[in-house]
This record gives sequence, C-alpha cells and structure tokens, in this order.
Amino acid sequence: MRSVMSMRYSLHNFDSQKMSVLQEEFVSIMTRMSSLLQIELPRRRRGTAGGSPRSLLKPLARRVGRAIEDFRMIEDGDRVLCAMSGGKDSYAMLHLLDYLRARAPVRFELLAVTVDQGYRGFQTDVLERYFREKGFAYHVERTNIAEVIDDTMPLGDTHCSMCARLRRGVLYRLAPELGCNKIALGHHADDLLETLLMSQFFNGEICSMPPILRARDGRNTVIRPLCYVWEEEIIRFTAEAGFPVICCACPACGDNSLKRRQMKLLLSRLEADHGGIKSSLLRALSNIRAEHLLDRRFLSALAGTTTAGTTTAGRKIAGPRGNAEPAASGGAAGPPGPTPEKPGLDEKPGRWTSPGIHRPDAGRKPVLPAGGS
Ligand code: SF4
Repeated sequence: MRSVMSMRYSLHNFDSQKMSVLQEEFVSIMTRMSSLLQIELPRRRRGTAGGSPRSLLKPLARRVGRAIEDFRMIEDGDRVLCAMSGGKDSYAMLHLLDYLRARAPVRFELLAVTVDQGYRGFQTDVLERYFREKGFAYHVERTNIAEVIDDTMPLGDTHCSMCARLRRGVLYRLAPELGCNKIALGHHADDLLETLLMSQFFNGEICSMPPILRARDGRNTVIRPLCYVWEEEIIRFTAEAGFPVICCACPACGDNSLKRRQMKLLLSRLEADHGGIKSSLLRALSNIRAEHLLDRRFLSALAGTTTAGTTTAGRKIAGPRGNAEPAASGGAAGPPGPTPEKPGLDEKPGRWTSPGIHRPDAGRKPVLPAGGS
C-alpha cells in the first residue's frame, strides 16, 4: 500500500505520457487490490476515461478568461495581433484565445504574427504550415534584428533585453499596418515573478510586467492574457496539444548566466522548499500596501499631500512613471485604462468563460492558482 501511495505522489512529477502509463498501472493495482479486499472503488471522474489525464484546455481557458475580465484586455471589435515566436507560450496563448473567441460575449479577431529575427535555422516554414493547416490568419515579418544586435549591442546590455526591445518596436509598427489595435504577448505568471525579482535585485524598484499597457502613441495596447497561468501548466498543455515548438535559433538561447534564468532557478528552489511561495508572490502583485513601504511619493500622497505640498484629495495615487515598461521600443508607454468609447465587458451581457467565472467583486482578493513546480 505504501509503495502504491508513493507511486501516486510521484505521478505529479512526470510528464503527461509517463503519467498516463503510471496512472494506468496505479488503477490496475488498485483494481486488483479492491477485488482481493472486496471493496468498491469510486468511479473515475468525468474526462479521465481511458486513463488519459484531464485536459488542461478548459481550466487554462478559464484562467485566461478571468485575466481578460479582470483587466479588460479585450473589447468588442478588437483585432488582436498574437506575437508568435514559435515557442510553447505563444502557441498556448493563441490556442486559448481562439478557444475563448468562439465562446466570448464580444466579437474579436486574431492574427498570428511572427517576427523572424534573421537567425540562420529559424524554421518559419514549420509555423507557416501549421497555421495554414489550422486555419489561422498568419503573417511573418522578416527582419535583420540578429545583425543589428551583433553590430550595435551596447556594453552591459544582453542579447535578450535588446532583442526584446527591437522585436517590440517591430510589433508596434506592424500592428496598425495589419489593422490590429491590440498586441498579445505570451508572458506567463512565472515571467511576471521573475521580472518582479529582477527589478528589485538589479534595478532597485518594485515593478513587474503589466497585464495591459497602453502605448502613448494611442495606437497600440499590449496585453498579457497568460498572466494567471504558470509555465509548468503551459509545458503540460503543449505536450497535450502537440504544438510544433521551434527554437529561436539564437546564440543566447539556453544561456544559464542570464539573470532571468537565475531568477527562475531561485523561484523553483524556493517553491520546492516552501510550496505556495510563487502563488503568494503573484497574489502580492495585486495586494500592495504602499503605506508599509519607503517610497515617500506614495506616503505623501496617502497623507493627502504631494511632495510639492499640493492636495491630492480625490485624485488617483500614481507613481511618477505610471506602469510604464522599460523594455518597449517604438514609443514610451503609459498607464492603461478602460477605453470609454467602446463597450467593454461591463456593458455586454454574457460570459467570457464557462460557468463559475464572474466579474470580480469590488475589493475581492483574487484567488490565484497554486504555483507550479
Ligand atoms: S533567447 Fe535569443 S531570441 Fe530569445 S529573447 Fe534572447 S536573444 Fe531574443
């Protein structure tokens, strides 16, 4: 019995294929034991017939739907450019958005767009074939980003940060050209936490990736629909859906000295020692107690005066930089806000997701998923 329990525990640590084999073994052992002991086993839960693990599609779509509602990411008539690097995150994002699109109370379109950075070996043909077969509208933009990075990368900058800025610049230019008013990026909850740690450890500030960010040019809005989804869940979803993931083919890929990778490692060690740490950190992002920090700008504002001594009564408290993101090129960014001209989810009846997902009540603390491993 003990070995059966330990096997059951270890099931969580295997990929879906191994898991399904082990699950089969577990069920068969339990069945044999039950007949020996003359006990009746509970029936299998719906969706696990045949021993295959429960699909992640609906649970993850619910999470994405809730993020869209919480931050009013998508509105009626939007045309969303989905940035497709060919990695697991972008595939998951596109498919979850497409699943929701067919069920959403508002009408919106998706356009998959890949920025080819010009690295030799980048397989755009795999992406083109996949999107054609699946019926997604698709555009690939060829660029010389790889060349520009090699020639002009400033001392102290990293491949990834410069690459991200250049790619964002291309996306900001492309979106209006392709008739898109939103740009969806595949950053997930782990990305948000890694950025949170990096900003504190290396930049001396507390900030992360905003779920919605409006560019000051008034043309582009960046959204992150996967902000409530853990990377580990995306990995399992990718295995389940069989996305043809391709490599970015760049020399920095897999470099373990990169700060982001170190943050990832740190978080996974902490999570292994103290389960739930990541979930708590993610909750902290939406539960700020500014009066318990040392930022005098917020303290003054909370006390009713600005540092200049003018009253702030009745005004929204905001830091001097709003929630601008440091990485984006192609236009400085400002704080997001609802677009009054368009009907949002408040004005439209209906639900974004399956039953059980409601608009959050005012003051409700979000119930976030437990952190992945
Ligand atoms: S790994 Fe390569 S392609 Fe990816 S962000 Fe870094 S530099 Fe860009």
